Amino acid sequence: MPLLKSWVVSANSSETLFPLNNLPYGVFSIGDEDPRCGVAIGDMILDVAACEEAGLIALDDDGVFDLPFWNDVMELGPAVWDALRVRLIELLEEGSPHQSSVEAHLVSSKSARLHLPLLVSEFTDFYAGKNHATNVGTMFRGPENALPPNWLHIPIGYNGRASTVVVSGTDITRPNGQTKAPDAEIPSFGPSKRLDIELEMGAIVGGSSEMGQPITVQDADDLIFGYVLLNDWSARDIQAWEYQPLGPFQAKAFATSISPWIVTKPALEPFRTSTPEREVGLLPFLREPGPMLYDIELAITMAPAGKEATTIARTNYNQMYYSAAQQLTHHASSGCAMNAGDLLGSGTISGPTRSECGSLLELTWGGKEPITLDTGETRSFIEDGDTLTLSGVATGDGYQVGFGNCTGTIKPAVDFP
Ligand code: MN
Repeated sequence: MPLLKSWVVSANSSETLFPLNNLPYGVFSIGDEDPRCGVAIGDMILDVAACEEAGLIALDDDGVFDLPFWNDVMELGPAVWDALRVRLIELLEEGSPHQSSVEAHLVSSKSARLHLPLLVSEFTDFYAGKNHATNVGTMFRGPENALPPNWLHIPIGYNGRASTVVVSGTDITRPNGQTKAPDAEIPSFGPSKRLDIELEMGAIVGGSSEMGQPITVQDADDLIFGYVLLNDWSARDIQAWEYQPLGPFQAKAFATSISPWIVTKPALEPFRTSTPEREVGLLPFLREPGPMLYDIELAITMAPAGKEATTIARTNYNQMYYSAAQQLTHHASSGCAMNAGDLLGSGTISGPTRSECGSLLELTWGGKEPITLDTGETRSFIEDGDTLTLSGVATGDGYQVGFGNCTGTIKPAVDFP
């Protein structure tokens, strides 16, 4: 698909992350004004709440943009999602007869503060990248037992915390927790010394499934509203002590960052790709009827306080072994009800080589082989003041579809009372 041209000139560049082909959904505010729903277009944001008030967008008699979250739109279902995209293109395309009335509702993204684009109802995180699972398993259990016996049959996950999902730009306080050094007799409590990131994609569920009712992989794909970048901040020392037998708990519960714009499925449609060949055939309920993964180039940068950023890894979402649709099907397979606003983390996305790994745990091989930044400093794990930034871009024919950064700076741990 070629670049779709808009009368918003900055949207027609091959460099912008937000051409008319993208139209991602966010929530923004200007100064002291209340947050409102908006759509990114070039270097501007279309105030869709104001467009609704002005009668330029009419999806539902009651209005859908009176709350600063996209959940109300999600709950109206795929036919309304499609109608909104069609209307936004009508309003913003080159030669649109609506240009003069829409112009008043554009604001510069430079002057806007971005907020969480949705009310996250629940957060589930998966472990569905094979390179990541193999690397971590090799470090923890040795190469013979790297992949757990269930790994090639189901996308393994755990129930995380929605309460600490925050938008990009929110500072992250280093977590305190209980840890136990291998040579220590008893555990101790204090700030994590092995603080890490996990580069992931987040799938946003836009509809619901009934309790007791499983869904097919196609149903699951239809329920996904869009995708964000997701950083599953992880305290490896806390995790190593607490995780057996129930999995991560406080090691992950303190923060999860997401990028500010929900990139919808229609924007990603040209970049659909298949999951890799199955090593072991999946049971029928998890088989995909078609390509359900996306070709999205991903990168991680790290910047010490006040210093330049270094790209420390590059990988691609197409490295995942399981798609978000398969994860959602697995999640609902027991009869677990899924709802609009559910956020599913893909699991850490790592490619086959060291520089393609999505966590410091892998990039520094358990902290044993520190990385060197462009500033000359070395890192095994994250230090206070470091800023970590994830980015994601799908490249089309003369245009890009981007997510906007997912960034966070680490603040020192607080003293435990
Ligand atoms: Mn994770």
